[in-house]
Amino acid sequence: MTEPADRRLIIVSNRVAMPRKNGASAGGLAVGILAALKDQGGLWFGWSGKLTEKSDSDVEVVRRDNIEFATIALNESDFEHYYNGYSNRVLWPVCHYLLDFLHFETEDFDAYLRVNSLFARKLASLLQPDDIIWVHDYHLIPLAAELRNAGIDNPIGFFLHVPFPTFEALRAVPGYEYLLRSLCAYDVLGFHTHRDLTAFRTCLQEPIVPAQINGDNTIRVSGGTLVADVFPIGVDVEEIQALSVEANRSKSVRRMVDSLDGRQLIIGVDRLDYSKGLHQRFLSYERLLEKYPNTQNNVTLMQIAPPTRVGVRAYDEIRSELEQDSGRINGRFASSDWVPIRYLNKGISRKPLMGFFRNADVGLVTPVRDGMNLVAKEYIVAQDPENPGMLVLSSLAGAACELTDAVIVNPHDRDSVADGIAMAITMPLDERRERHAAMLKVLKMNDITAWRTRFVDALLSHREAG
Ligand code: UDP
Repeated sequence: MTEPADRRLIIVSNRVAMPRKNGASAGGLAVGILAALKDQGGLWFGWSGKLTEKSDSDVEVVRRDNIEFATIALNESDFEHYYNGYSNRVLWPVCHYLLDFLHFETEDFDAYLRVNSLFARKLASLLQPDDIIWVHDYHLIPLAAELRNAGIDNPIGFFLHVPFPTFEALRAVPGYEYLLRSLCAYDVLGFHTHRDLTAFRTCLQEPIVPAQINGDNTIRVSGGTLVADVFPIGVDVEEIQALSVEANRSKSVRRMVDSLDGRQLIIGVDRLDYSKGLHQRFLSYERLLEKYPNTQNNVTLMQIAPPTRVGVRAYDEIRSELEQDSGRINGRFASSDWVPIRYLNKGISRKPLMGFFRNADVGLVTPVRDGMNLVAKEYIVAQDPENPGMLVLSSLAGAACELTDAVIVNPHDRDSVADGIAMAITMPLDERRERHAAMLKVLKMNDITAWRTRFVDALLSHREAG
């Protein structure tokens, strides 16, 4: 096989996130892609974050170390319809099985197609014959088909960072037939879990795309053969371990620890998104305080929840719901020297965050649905192996497939979550060490480099076999 290092890796995602000095990050996809590009280098193409009144814009290329960042501005109205509209009011809720949040407008779908076609045109002008193209996430499903139409024959893979819905959910999406056909234009399709892969394969059994599913993860479609497989995203274990040790000595982390006054810390870190189950989480924490009264004044929940997709109604609503929840619970249980919930409606930079993780007795990760959830993995890696905290993890997060030694809970069941937290905060040291070692082993074996290497290898070997 050609050494991947000999060929340029082109990563395409909706948004290109230039590394920032303070390291604050927008989400799992950006963290994962930057970490994946760090060793090998390559080009990252996508939206710059800038809006324009024009329908076209020039590609701007900036180089930082071994990575080239190639970005375009997007037309303001197209962005609203493509991103806030079809991507985040249709695809996001359906992929997370939250169909009540689905809101479709034809002009949103039209803009989705237009932006994908623009991405293809702009990207095509940057490509060289040996490039390997790796497209990320639900915003860009039609991109391979658009690139093929533009005569691009390079290997093109697609990785879905969100769950793939079963057919019963998918068929609620206007345009789903087109999406399924578009997915079949890729050489390799990657999913986080076997459940997602199975859901995708089941959709292909419907009479939409003539497809023959083989036993070896290949699927025969009219244009050729593609590979569909499971590639769970990992984290940069060495980086997180180093950051958490370093941050542990920093002033901001020490100040936070001192302010706990010896109380146990439960930490939650999630974008303010309805899929993260934050309302349910606050109610579960309230249940903990009711059901286990000795936790009152002895534990503190710190919930970090940076706002996201501001201006989309569902997101504005969840923000005010959480403010009410935390105000009510704090009002009900607080004492003159203790506040049960510290609710931070802002992002925290990566380094102090890893220090906070290291000092938290419980990592509380209870999404009502999540493709993977990197916070769960980062929390484990940031622990002190001699005295690790315990992860309480939703069974509905992709991470639960690998982190089977966490305390697994149902985020819809307040008692299940409250009992899970109670179990985690009283778990004997030996058991915590044992569970932590087992989870760390899994995370080291499938770290971010393994994720990138496996995906790129699959893409290259598939094309060489074909
Ligand atoms: N993150 C961060 N600061 C914050 C909140 C989140 O650096 O204040 C990072 C977090 O460490 C993780 C990513 O953003 O790497 C969130 O990824 P995850 O998969 O958990 O969720 P997503 O936001 O992608 O749904």
